[in-house]
Amino acid sequence: MLNIDLHCHSTVSDGLLTPTQLVEHAAARGVEVLALTDHDDVGGLDEARQAAAATSITLVNGVEISADWRGQTLHIVGLGIDPAYPPLAQGLASIRDGRTVRARNIAAQLGKFGIHDSFEGASRNAGDGHLIGRMHFARFLVEQGYAKDVKSVFKKYLVKGKPGYAAHQWVPLSDAVDWIRNSGGRAVIAHPARYKLSKGALDELLLEFRALGGEAIEVVTSSHTPEQSLLFARHSQRLGLLASRGSDFHGPGESYFDLGRMPPLPANCTPVWHDWNATT
Ligand code: AMP
Ligand code: MN
Ligand code: MN
Ligand code: MN
Repeated sequence: MLNIDLHCHSTVSDGLLTPTQLVEHAAARGVEVLALTDHDDVGGLDEARQAAAATSITLVNGVEISADWRGQTLHIVGLGIDPAYPPLAQGLASIRDGRTVRARNIAAQLGKFGIHDSFEGASRNAGDGHLIGRMHFARFLVEQGYAKDVKSVFKKYLVKGKPGYAAHQWVPLSDAVDWIRNSGGRAVIAHPARYKLSKGALDELLLEFRALGGEAIEVVTSSHTPEQSLLFARHSQRLGLLASRGSDFHGPGESYFDLGRMPPLPANCTPVWHDWNATT
């Protein structure tokens, strides 16, 4: 079976390994095809490609776009994109600018609760000129002793209804799908079980996504239980959507599945990579 992992993060977004370290980590675990899918940024792809050239890994150009559908934040993975395609590159730059504004709002919220200098702390964790996100705040809050790990920090501080939450308007789902498709890529709904949609709303999302030109959903991911993988395998078959497989790896010990260590797709799914020449 092909060892393929189509969702992971480097230090260019909120991962802990540089693109080079990530590719080396993947190679050491037997990954054959890897997509680097940093949040709202394609800045790690060149380095990852160079690193992959020294291994037997086939690197797929990827991205994970933060999008909005009916007030709900969705993550849309793009696979096989052209990172230089201007509407995609410009759209991602505008999302990153919005993230800086949101980070200021998160820091202001935390300040009201007596937690100071979190913008500076999170920025240090994000690295120079790189995108800033909640994970960088989470790691700062753990450093400062507010919680024992990032998982509990999210629960206590960074989600809706908690002190460090700031509402944010992401790009419309249709823009994310258009940028991916028009750059030659395939749009995939990341970790669909995470959105906690009702059955009806989920169906509406899947149908609307398909109508917009979306082609796949993640079936096997660190966010899904085995039952949820089976459920989304059935949704993919029922709606003629392709099935993807990605660990959503952020760093050693930070994701449920390590790179290259996921179960296979359930039987009867059509893999999102079924027609990729380099891998079939
Ligand atoms: P952002 O895109 O800045 O809103 O941050 C989202 C990222 O935060 C996700 O990609 C995960 O890396 C991380 N994250 C979100 N929720 C949680 C959680 N409950 N526990 C741990 N990490 C989380
Ligand atoms: Mn992340
Ligand atoms: Mn995600
Ligand atoms: Mn991710």
